[in-house]
Amino acid sequence: MKVVIKSDTTSFSKELKELCGQDLLTCYQCRKCTMGCPMAFRMEMKVSEMMRTVQLGLRDEVLSADTMWWCVSCETCATRCPQGIEIVEVMDALREMAFKEGYHIPLESIKAFHEVFLRSVETYGRLYEIGFAMDLNFALSNPLKDADLGPVMLSKGKLKLLPDRVKDLNSVKKLFENVKKLEESRT
Ligand code: SF4
Ligand code: SF4
Repeated sequence: MKVVIKSDTTSFSKELKELCGQDLLTCYQCRKCTMGCPMAFRMEMKVSEMMRTVQLGLRDEVLSADTMWWCVSCETCATRCPQGIEIVEVMDALREMAFKEGYHIPLESIKAFHEVFLRSVETYGRLYEIGFAMDLNFALSNPLKDADLGPVMLSKGKLKLLPDRVKDLNSVKKLFENVKKLEESRT
């Protein structure tokens, strides 16, 4: 049976629920998420602390935190959570909010990674690894980073020289267009 903190009526938890569908008021601070998180050692605000901070309605503290930027979406926390909270979806929503509202991102490479990754998926419908690595290196002003690994991986068949495209690329492009429209309608 789920436990729900009924006394909390913060607008922040409602806002998050609308954005990602997760009700953080059901978190009862067992800390199983934090205990299993492989990135907890990097986070100033641990996952369970972030849940409680949301419950308290401390929006600015949560969006200023580095928690969501260190999360690697491994799903360990969600698997362990007795309340079935899909924490990765919460992290995605928080990243989106923090990015749009201009909050500090602890590493420039994190922002570049997301932008280059999405550009590759929008163009090909999937990740084109060589193009992704080159774009990311250029975005981070380090164009020759790991360049020596490319030929080795190509020779072992670990990388493809040319990109694969999904068959129905139009559907992917439509998906991106719909997301952009949704974002515009929210601003
Ligand atoms: S999904 Fe993110 S927050 Fe959850 S355990 Fe993995 S790294 Fe930690
Ligand atoms: S595992 Fe779930 S219920 Fe426990 S502290 Fe983390 S989010 Fe809250």
